[in-house]
Amino acid sequence: MRTKFGLFFLMLTIGVQVFAQDQYLKAKSDSIEKIYEAKDIYPVKSFSQKFKTQKPKNIILLIGDGMGVSQVFAGLTANKGHLFLENFKHIGFSKTQSANGYITDSAAGGTALASGHKTNNGAIGVDADGKPVKSILEEAEAKGLATGLVSSSAITHATPASFISHQDGRSMYEEIATDFLKTDIDVFIGGGIDHFSKRKDGRNLMEELKSKGYQVETDIMEISKVKKGKLAGLTAPVHNGRVAERGDMLPVATKTALNILDNNKKGFFLMVEGSMIDWGGHASSTRYIVEEMLDFDKVIGEALEFAEKDGETLIIVTADHETGGMAITGGNMQKGVVIGSFPTTDHTAVMVPVFSYGPGAQEFTGIMENTDITVKMRKLLIE
Ligand code: MG
Ligand code: ZN
Repeated sequence: MRTKFGLFFLMLTIGVQVFAQDQYLKAKSDSIEKIYEAKDIYPVKSFSQKFKTQKPKNIILLIGDGMGVSQVFAGLTANKGHLFLENFKHIGFSKTQSANGYITDSAAGGTALASGHKTNNGAIGVDADGKPVKSILEEAEAKGLATGLVSSSAITHATPASFISHQDGRSMYEEIATDFLKTDIDVFIGGGIDHFSKRKDGRNLMEELKSKGYQVETDIMEISKVKKGKLAGLTAPVHNGRVAERGDMLPVATKTALNILDNNKKGFFLMVEGSMIDWGGHASSTRYIVEEMLDFDKVIGEALEFAEKDGETLIIVTADHETGGMAITGGNMQKGVVIGSFPTTDHTAVMVPVFSYGPGAQEFTGIMENTDITVKMRKLLIE
């Protein structure tokens, strides 16, 4: 009996220790995700607030998917007090509710920003009745302006897709890829090779893009060498990796797109998405959010470099919705430490910030519907 009990207690003790070890590892990995501690910081600079015109010739729309005020402030703290975003002197808030949801998804949020129409969650480039609605990118194209889309996720994912595709469901990736060929978009860079070339219908859209005159590249180094003509840059089978894996793909892709689009003397419309600020929110990971937020701020820096020199470019930075209900419950500005806390792993209903810089920026202040952003952009660029 005694040995049996002895064995039982021995097993119990080992069990408790294994459990404790597990808890310890979990707590450790939780803290890796919950707490961000700055390693390298980058310098930010001030840009001129003087512009050549009243009305913009070009619009750059930068969408931080899932980027609320906390995500911005987490990035600002992590970079020890400064972001490129501080160059934006006109600030407003956008109400993100969709046609059928107090809480929007990225498809309805993207469609609202692209077309000025509220639609149902999951819908891409169609209104709440399923009718296709023109995006500002398509209108810019029709007007003879150059157009571009850049994303860290697959280029067929909901946010970029909303600017070029018209489908009932956001997961119709192959149909969305086909829609790229129905347009004259000049530049698109993002993941999604599989949706173009490993398809149920057997079509190889990468070959079709080549015969339409596109330079089709899959390596960001090669992509960055393209200076003119049409460019399809597909940098991953589906989505690109996190910053540690993809490096400066998004800022480099942005700079490349701006150089190419600038060849059109009539002007251009470019949308760039920092897709994974949202994914960090879904993962309740402060570290993931901060890494993606800082990468997105470097994209903002590239846009500012271009716009300052050009003097006729309006930049708008906003989000489709907030993700995670992120709160910042601790941190240290001098050390670049941020501690985040998350009540949900989903999107939230809260208003998101709208930052603008350049001719026309003063139009984008106050509290507005997400669809008002498009109405204002349309007035400045299309009408
Ligand atoms: Mg997105
Ligand atoms: Zn999301």
